[in-house]
Amino acid sequence: MTHYQKPPELYDGLRLHQNENTGGCSPRVRAALAALRADQIGFYPPYAGATAAVAAYLDVPVERVTLTNGLDEGIMALAVASLRPSPGGPVPEAIVPEPAFEIFRLDTAVAGGRLVQVMPNRDFSFPLDAVIEAITPDTRVVFLTNPNNPTGISMPLDAIRTLAARVPDGAVVFVDEAYAEFAGESFIPFLPSHPNVIVGRTFSKAFGLAGLRIGCLVGAPDTMDKVRQAIPVYSVNVAAVAAIQAALADRDFLADYLRQVAESKELLYKACERLGLKYWRSRSNFVLVCAGAQTDRLVEGAFARGVYIRDRSAEPGCAGCIRIAAGIVEHTRRCIAVMEEVLCAAP
Ligand code: PMP
Repeated sequence: MTHYQKPPELYDGLRLHQNENTGGCSPRVRAALAALRADQIGFYPPYAGATAAVAAYLDVPVERVTLTNGLDEGIMALAVASLRPSPGGPVPEAIVPEPAFEIFRLDTAVAGGRLVQVMPNRDFSFPLDAVIEAITPDTRVVFLTNPNNPTGISMPLDAIRTLAARVPDGAVVFVDEAYAEFAGESFIPFLPSHPNVIVGRTFSKAFGLAGLRIGCLVGAPDTMDKVRQAIPVYSVNVAAVAAIQAALADRDFLADYLRQVAESKELLYKACERLGLKYWRSRSNFVLVCAGAQTDRLVEGAFARGVYIRDRSAEPGCAGCIRIAAGIVEHTRRCIAVMEEVLCAAP
């Protein structure tokens, strides 16, 4: 089994390689953390307040929300609940349209499921027909990401509805909406009529809480039941519980970050045009850029100047591609200056 290639632990430069909010969290989050009392830290955490805040934010009833220790934990729980082979039974299958968040592949392997990869269209548009063709009676999970990582491209919500109608009974269509705030679009309003769909959300990105590890799964309580059983009972810690309530109460902070993301993406597009680099318009907080033969030079040159960007060349359909976070405008400007310096210097 392949292991997750964790990016190196680089914290002394500009981290544009993991799609984090490089501006960090709202000041209200830090105040909430500082206000935690010793007894609160001494007790197992209560979840009602945080669950209610998340449910209100997503406009769903509380019984549809399960908090997780980052969305990563939710994905692992889904894999454990759905993809373990039973003795003598068929091997459960997980369909992954590529390129995708690599954790889907790894968690499928950990659970013992069979990975069914669907290769991308050249323009990264969603390969609906190929995904439908990949469905078999043993399909247990279809892993979707909307908007996608690493492309930043979104899929039609209709395609999700179509897949939900096509998968066998008992299978789950999982929609990873880690970047939904940036796209301003979600499948959550359609969940009541599609009980076999589970949506995953994270507060790592738009809310800048990656270090605290909090996300959630949203779906019909019956569908979520076996997934909930695979989540450790107190996996979300009391700091994350306090933080999420403070973060969700500061919508101005969110609005400012979303505005900066939109501006940063435009700046990056223009820079790519000046530098002759192909890019894909993104509905997320990062941009996939094709640097082709210049990929190593660009990634290494930026690294040497303290700017970390992520080579995604090894992902299906992404040869010569680099993923660059586009968030805080000042950080984007710094990155662009470094890209220009590296690419315009004599080789
Ligand atoms: N899904 C996708 C598509 C992601 O890109 C990420 C973060 N890299 C996650 C899930 C994990 O989010 P979290 O930090 O909440 O575990």
